[in-house]
Amino acid sequence: MASVELHDVVKRFGQTVAVNHVNLKIEDGEFLILLGPSGCGKTTSLRSIAGLEDVDEGQILIDGEVVNNKRPADRDMAFCFQQYALYPHLTAFENIAFPLRTQNMNHNEVNQRVREVGKLLKIEDIFPRKPKKLSAGDQQRVALARAMVRQPKVYLMDEPLSNLDAQVRVDMRAELRRLQINNRITTVYVTHDQVEAMAMADRIAIMDKGVLQQVGTPDDVYVSPANLFVANFIGSPSMNFIPCNYDAASHGVRIPVNGETILYRLPVNVKQSISDIQDGTELILGIRPEDVYIHTEPVDDGFDCQLVLMEALGSENIHHLQRGNLHFVSRTSPADVYPVGQSVWVTLETEGIRLFDRKTEAAI
Ligand code: ATP
Repeated sequence: MASVELHDVVKRFGQTVAVNHVNLKIEDGEFLILLGPSGCGKTTSLRSIAGLEDVDEGQILIDGEVVNNKRPADRDMAFCFQQYALYPHLTAFENIAFPLRTQNMNHNEVNQRVREVGKLLKIEDIFPRKPKKLSAGDQQRVALARAMVRQPKVYLMDEPLSNLDAQVRVDMRAELRRLQINNRITTVYVTHDQVEAMAMADRIAIMDKGVLQQVGTPDDVYVSPANLFVANFIGSPSMNFIPCNYDAASHGVRIPVNGETILYRLPVNVKQSISDIQDGTELILGIRPEDVYIHTEPVDDGFDCQLVLMEALGSENIHHLQRGNLHFVSRTSPADVYPVGQSVWVTLETEGIRLFDRKTEAAI
């Protein structure tokens, strides 16, 4: 096991800065997920850790030792990538055994290790089959087993579940997480799927355009996003964003809606954190859908709007609310049903209100 550190790492491809001054420490035994949209630099970061890319600036350290000049084979890491490239002429068993055979491990030990990992991933019954006789899910399991059969310092995984059907994917993510909790091998895992990241990670590192936006536990990044990008990327439906201006006189915000202004008084906890900002400052008020409450009668501190649509998803209802140019959603339990097409009143959970600076997009 080992820690992995990126110190001010930069990787360019021509004019493209794929990884832009990234600083990140992955603790010994941690399951860290690199998350972000396509092209944000996740894979390049992972490949740089693996030694498959030479970085242009900065250092990669494993257990405190700089490894920039070490070949991938000398970094003691096991990879599992989206394109799992099993050897077609070898059985599932021999595919898994392959990394051990290249280490000249003795026959009995190879057998024992392959059987152990096969048992963990529940694939012993497919050991005799060659890859073309395996389903995509089983091929993926064999590829994972091949990575996990060794006891490397670090596992590096790039979208290893992306070829699987939704249900198998959910099962596998739980399986993989359980295995990592048992063996505690430091794992760096790339995905663009925020649900997968929230479900599996000890911590999530969120990237955009090569820049690390925030590193934190799933709870941290959901509850206290560092900026608008993170707030928008994490959560489904995503956070509601309401453009507004600070109103110093009332310690509230002015929300412009089709020529009129709603004055929304900020709760005490929010007021304290923004006491030094100037009147008129352009803000975005962010609120998660589960923190938007609907009422059928006028209420104090509420504002009225139209309920334009309800999506009944079985485990929850998503209500779409509109007032002029303002559109936002409320998530409720399936028991809460309100009259679509009619006026309702909305209040916001005070603990759930987040303010962002509209110019810098940073959380206040
Ligand atoms: P995806 O999920 O689509 O793989 P990603 O977040 O992993 O995206 P990277 O693959 O790391 O992103 O790519 C980051 C940027 O670097 C992108 O703009 C990509 O086009 C560019 N890039 C990556 N590899 C190369 C390469 N070998 N040559 C040129 N540009 C590259």
